[in-house]
Amino acid sequence: MKQIIVAKSAGFCFGVKRAVDTVYEQAAEKKEPIYTYGPIIHNEAVVEDLEKRGVKVINSVDELKQAEKGTVIIRSHGVEKKVYDEIKELGCNIVDATCPFVLKIHKIVEKYSNEGYYIVIIGNGSHPEVLGIKGWCDPKHTSVIETAEEAGNFKISPEQKICIVSQTTFNNNKFKELVEIIQKKGYNINVLNTICNATEERQTEARSIAAQVDAMIVIGGRHSSNTQKLFEICKNECENTYYVQTYKDLDLSEFNSVDNVGITAGASTPNNIIEEVQTNVRNEF
Ligand code: SF4
Repeated sequence: MKQIIVAKSAGFCFGVKRAVDTVYEQAAEKKEPIYTYGPIIHNEAVVEDLEKRGVKVINSVDELKQAEKGTVIIRSHGVEKKVYDEIKELGCNIVDATCPFVLKIHKIVEKYSNEGYYIVIIGNGSHPEVLGIKGWCDPKHTSVIETAEEAGNFKISPEQKICIVSQTTFNNNKFKELVEIIQKKGYNINVLNTICNATEERQTEARSIAAQVDAMIVIGGRHSSNTQKLFEICKNECENTYYVQTYKDLDLSEFNSVDNVGITAGASTPNNIIEEVQTNVRNEF
């Protein structure tokens, strides 16, 4: 008997759901132009649907300068402090849909930075969430570390106190590994593990399902970092792990000879896309 196991934690997390709902609510009440500062989630289908409802994506304050005044929605990843100020200066309204867990990191790094701590953000330096967090710190006393090599090379004055935080979607084990490397250098460190539970739960469940199945499907946008991490975790447990954006990317013939398939999805994958994948795989069985 063939079986499909769909992760309970697959799909939108609390913060993403809140941000997407906020944009739909604003679009429904639309009295002035609505912008999202960057795509609201890493999902092309959702962004296109919102565009049809008149929501435009702007990618910088400069772009906003050329546009008509309106409401700017900050997405769940959050932004640098200066972005709030610049948007306000342009006379636009701000609706802040930054995830509360990310806002908490902004507050932590701002406080520690003001107290003279050196801030280490464990995460991907080019990810918008990390760029946003960096924008609440003193730039001269902040580093982003993503790899064991970078942690090994990290060196500042031994008297400098350090505060370490994490990108919310970072892998928990890797975070601990990188923190240990820095700790061994003998610094006075305050470690705040700011990895979000939603991510950890999704990763733990994905790992456990991938270990039980013959094939694993990970659904999510190409640029979604948390989906990429889920894929890595699943691939470690199950060689036949596939990364798809929608059911159209599935090569269903791959599933002919398997007995059970696991499905999980990143935090920005809408439910209907997960259901479509599930239905297509089920039809094949
Ligand atoms: S993964 Fe966590 S921190 Fe990120 S948006 Fe979702 S709930 Fe918020």
